[in-house]
Amino acid sequence: MTTSFSALPLAPQFLDNLGTLGYHEMTPIQAASLPSVLEGRDLIAQAKTGSGKTAAFGIGLLHKLNPAWFAVQGLVMCPTRELADQVAGELRRLARGVGNVKILTLTGGTAMRPQIASLEHGAHIVVGTPGRIRDHLGRATIDLSKVQTLVLDEADRMTDMGFYDEIAGIVSACPQRRQTLLFSATYPDDIRHATAGFLNDPVEIAVESQH
Ligand code: ADP
Ligand code: MG
Repeated sequence: MTTSFSALPLAPQFLDNLGTLGYHEMTPIQAASLPSVLEGRDLIAQAKTGSGKTAAFGIGLLHKLNPAWFAVQGLVMCPTRELADQVAGELRRLARGVGNVKILTLTGGTAMRPQIASLEHGAHIVVGTPGRIRDHLGRATIDLSKVQTLVLDEADRMTDMGFYDEIAGIVSACPQRRQTLLFSATYPDDIRHATAGFLNDPVEIAVESQH
């Protein structure tokens, strides 16, 4: 299995930016997942915290994104505001190699009005918590009908936190034809059953080794 990002079919500018970030070798979960992610497959990826899961989906998300099309093409759900902020930060760093990509975070504990104003201005990628995204859907202040890539990050924690109904509502507002990527530190049977309906013939990988 290759471990260098340069072996992936990524734009040269994107590869340069990864180098600038100090990303030269893929982590094991990136090496195991990125080929399938870039092929457009649905994926379930299990690896412990700190193993580089954000870039594993982030590179796929940004590779597929069309910056000239101003619609929410990528949606990432995270269990907490802190994690959503971290993921958005990482995506913004990765996106420097892609062009002008607008990434918006939508989490609770923040006033609705500025979020609605930001949504009116438009975004390519939304990163948020299920409760707040569901809230925007209920008010019709977000349009998920153009989502090409849906990411469930830390799926185990989101399910543990009781977000299942919100997640199901959000998934059903996305197009049926989309890529769905599920990342989790653990993948017990109850979460497997809860999320099975969100994925279409997923590639499944688990990386046990530490990075
Ligand atoms: P996880 O989501 O699995 O907990 P993160 O995506 O938060 O892990 O990544 C953990 C750390 O590793 C981050 O600081 C990130 O910048 C760094 N990182 C990710 N991929 C690479 C890589 N290929 N090379 C070097 N550092 C990386
Ligand atoms: Mg993570």
